[in-house]
Amino acid sequence: APTLDITAIRQQFPILHQQINGKPLVYFDNAATNQKPESVINALNGYYSGYNANIHRGIHALAEKATAAFEDTRKAVQQFIGSREVEEVIFTKGTTEGINLVAATWGRMSLQAGDEIIISTMEHHSNIVPWQLLCEEKGAVLRVIPISESGEIIWEEFEKLLSAKTKLVSIVHASNALGTINPVQKVIKAAHAVGAKVLVDGAQASAHLALDVQTLDVDFYVFSAHKLYGPTGVGILYGKRALLEAMPPYQGGGEMIAEVSFEKTTYNVIPYKFEAGTPNIADVVALKAAIDFVNQYGKSAIAAHEDALLQYATEKVGAIEGIRLVGTAAHKVSVLSFVLEGMHPFDVGMMLDAKGIAVRTGHHCTQPLMKRLGLEGTIRASFAIYNTFEEIDTLVSALKDLAAKRKK
Ligand code: PMP
Repeated sequence: APTLDITAIRQQFPILHQQINGKPLVYFDNAATNQKPESVINALNGYYSGYNANIHRGIHALAEKATAAFEDTRKAVQQFIGSREVEEVIFTKGTTEGINLVAATWGRMSLQAGDEIIISTMEHHSNIVPWQLLCEEKGAVLRVIPISESGEIIWEEFEKLLSAKTKLVSIVHASNALGTINPVQKVIKAAHAVGAKVLVDGAQASAHLALDVQTLDVDFYVFSAHKLYGPTGVGILYGKRALLEAMPPYQGGGEMIAEVSFEKTTYNVIPYKFEAGTPNIADVVALKAAIDFVNQYGKSAIAAHEDALLQYATEKVGAIEGIRLVGTAAHKVSVLSFVLEGMHPFDVGMMLDAKGIAVRTGHHCTQPLMKRLGLEGTIRASFAIYNTFEEIDTLVSALKDLAAKRKK
């Protein structure tokens, strides 16, 4: 992969050029949300100052322009994920809504008492709770794939859980708390062999990992624009056409209907059947700029840079006395989780913030995972395209200071 000009890339991110507590900002909270390049910010501004209008039904010039921009993003997403058809791309407000949509429509339609859903120990709460709600409603059973100390699913245990009762396997592509990349291709094959469908939570994968939904043969794939250098409030649900067509609508309202009468309402074709009401037009429009940004450099070049940062940080942070790394899987995205013995993660986060370093601390919306690891929480540094080795040096020196203080 070609090497990236990180200095030039940083110039495109206005937010990075500021001081926090008198120190240059070091932004290492990218797994929570990453920063937006000027092209994305300009796309938002351009929409509101140039062609704000409601879409799909308008016949005037602004409405046509807005509709075209909105649908252009759908085409860009189709290419970005490799879906066969543009109609298989549904706009949501994020990963969370995508999973809830599938649970409330496909789940309600497909599950019966005694059926089983399999998830893993490392799931984000948004890939746990919707399935618990569904299981409660249907009398279905939630099964959980155990993980090893290194933070990887135990394959033999997963195989034991699979049976004719399994209706769905819902698993994270890359863990937000540990960085672990799951072998989703293998999971999908094994699940399909018992007749189950598979949903993959791609929230942490979308900006880092190559994706082709047709090669994967995944049934549902969900992610959020805001972890892909795009705006908050937009997400993608990919689903296979046959599944989406068989599913009942999610929300009722404008746009999702074919014809409404008080006796009987008929529904629109996909994707519109799942997009009730005025959508988040501005943010959808700006998502195209985010995808263009990622495509301009290429996910493989971005991942190569982030992998180098992760390797460097793993060595340097891991060598500090008193620090224990959490999650040491062989295949990871650029997430470094750790604990500093004798100090609460929250206190470490506060002290790093005082030095301008933004990290996340706590359970990372993965409480069952933390329980499995015997931890209350971790400190998490996660890297993006614009991060540098010098910034990691800043983190390492701040952590060394803290570790030394702790001993006194
Ligand atoms: N799954 C994973 C793995 C995540 O990292 C996140 C965001 N932290 C989510 C789901 C939920 O995404 P959102 O809050 O954008 O809906």
